[in-house]
Amino acid sequence: MSYHIPSDNQVEIALKKILKENRTIHSQKKLKQLVVKELNTKKKTFGVSESRLRKIAINSNYVKLEIHSREGDPRRLLAKCPVCESILKRVRNLTIWGGEVTIELSCPNCGYWTGKKKRIPTRYVFHLKKK
Ligand SMILES: [Zn+2]
Repeated sequence: MSYHIPSDNQVEIALKKILKENRTIHSQKKLKQLVVKELNTKKKTFGVSESRLRKIAINSNYVKLEIHSREGDPRRLLAKCPVCESILKRVRNLTIWGGEVTIELSCPNCGYWTGKKKRIPTRYVFHLKKK
């Protein structure tokens, strides 16, 4: 079976409708199922990857993304955001005691941030953004 690839616009319309009806979707997998169900017709079966769906959601103005994560290896180097692949920004913080510098990385696009123990995203929750 071959899948049709929906346009960004088609995905956005489906996404908006689903979030308006449900307010919150508790996983990326569930969101994908709902979007595909919304897009499918009797003649066409659509396919969209979870990472593409997530990026479209982040770039829309009606989705608030909640990122659940676990602690990862502090030695792991992160150049790009693991959530949306934007370039991460370095943020330096001074600790209150002794002025030791800790470095954090943050994403200007999706709100992901991490300290020394690299946060690895494990689950995404999608909320309808309140106006
Ligand atoms: Zn990001």
